[in-house]
Amino acid sequence: MIYKRSSQLFAEAEKVIPGGVNSPVRAFKAVGGTPIFVKSAKGAYLYDEDGNRLIDYINSWGPMVLGHAYEPVVEAVIEKAKLGTSFGMPTELETQIAALAVAMVPNIDKIRFVNSGTEACMSAVRLARGFTKRDKIIKFAGCYHGHSDSFLIQAGSGAMTFGSPNSPGVTAGTAKDTLLATYNDLQNVKTVIGANPNEIAAIIVEPVAGNMGCIPPVAGFLEGLRDLCTANGILLIFDEVMTGFRLAKGGVQELFNITADIVCFGKVIGGGLPVGAFAAREEIMNYLAPLGPVYQAGTLSGNPLAMAAGLAMLESLNNDPAIFQRLAEKTAYLHEGIEKVLKANNVIFTINRIGSMISVHFDESPVVDLKSAGKGDNETFKKFFHGLVKEGVYIAPSAYETWFITDALTYEDLDFTIQAIDKVSKTF
Ligand code: PMP
Repeated sequence: MIYKRSSQLFAEAEKVIPGGVNSPVRAFKAVGGTPIFVKSAKGAYLYDEDGNRLIDYINSWGPMVLGHAYEPVVEAVIEKAKLGTSFGMPTELETQIAALAVAMVPNIDKIRFVNSGTEACMSAVRLARGFTKRDKIIKFAGCYHGHSDSFLIQAGSGAMTFGSPNSPGVTAGTAKDTLLATYNDLQNVKTVIGANPNEIAAIIVEPVAGNMGCIPPVAGFLEGLRDLCTANGILLIFDEVMTGFRLAKGGVQELFNITADIVCFGKVIGGGLPVGAFAAREEIMNYLAPLGPVYQAGTLSGNPLAMAAGLAMLESLNNDPAIFQRLAEKTAYLHEGIEKVLKANNVIFTINRIGSMISVHFDESPVVDLKSAGKGDNETFKKFFHGLVKEGVYIAPSAYETWFITDALTYEDLDFTIQAIDKVSKTF
C-alpha cells in the first residue's frame, strides 16, 4: 500500500496542529510510522487519501456499531441541517431521544445530553459529589473516563499508550480526591473504602474495561462493587461510554443484571456526532440545575444534528432485537479464526472478548487488570499492526485498545481478516 499523500498531509498538519492530530492516539506514536489520513468511509470500509481500502476495526473508537455512513443516520442529519444547525433553545427532538434512551436502559428515569464522553463522566462525578456531599472518588487503574483532570490518574487508552497516565497540569489538590483501585480486585476496593470512611462520593468504573485492551469483569466483581457502594453510601457510576448501546440494548446493567446509580454514555448514543449523556434515577437527576444546586450546562448540548443522528441510531438498534446477538456471533467467529491461525503459527497470545468487543494481547497470562495488560509484547504488536495495515485491515494503533465489531462486517470480511492475520503472524 502507498501512503504518499497521507505522509504529505501529516507533514502539513504537524505545522499547525500539535503532533498533527486532535487526539493523541491517532498519531501512531506507539507503533511508529505515519498516520493514515481518511477520505471517506462506508459500511465496514475506510478509504484513505491514497486510494487504499481498509477493513475497519476501530470504527471511530466505537460509535459506528452499524457501520460507516449508515443511511438512516446520514439522512436524519441532512434533513435536520436544512432546518437550522443550532438554536440554544429546547427542541422536541431532545425529548424524543431522551424518552427512547430511558426506555432502552434499565434503572434510569432522566438523562441529560452533553457533547462528549469526557463531559458525561465529569458531570456525573460532580453530580455524585453534590448529591452525597462527599469529595473523593475511586477509579480503577487502566480505566479511562475522558481527559478531565480528576480522571488523569493512572488512566488507560492514550494516556497509557503515551506513558503519561498521570498528566502534568492536574493539580495535587485534584489528584488527592481520586483514589486508585485495581480492576477486578474487590479486596483492594474494600481496603480503599476502609481507609476513607464516609469520604467517598462515587466509584466510577468501566463495567467492561475497554481502555487497556478489552477486559471483562471477573465473576462477582460488579456485584461486589454494587454491594460495597450500597453498604457505604457510595454512588456506583457505570461509565458505559464504550459499552452503552453496544453490548446490549440496556448496556452492562442489562447484561449482568446490576443496578448502577449513574450511567454515562457517549460514542454510539450520538451515531458518530459529538454526543455524550449521563443518566440516573429521578432523585439524583433532579439535583442538577435548574431543579437542583449542581451546575452543568452546554451551548451545543442537545444540538439538533447530534440528536437527529443519535435518535436514528438508537431507533435502528431498538427496532432490531437480534442485533446484539448477531454482533456477538461475528465477534466469536473472528475470535475462533484468530485463535486458530495464531496457534498454528506458534504465537504466544491471549484473546479477551465480550459481545462485539475483542482484543489480542501478545502474552500468555490472563489479562484481567492494568498490570497484566502491560505484559503484552509491544514489538510483536507493532509488527502485527503494520502487517495488517499492509494487508488492508485497520486496528487501533496501540495494544491498549479494543477492537470494535460492526454489523456492516460480512463473514467474507472476517475471513479476509483471519487470513491476513495468518499471513502477518508467520513473519513474527
Ligand atoms: N469513557 C470511556 C469508557 C471511553 O472509552 C472514552 C473515550 N474513549 C471516554 C469516556 C471519553 O469520551 P470522549 O473521548 O468522547 O470524551
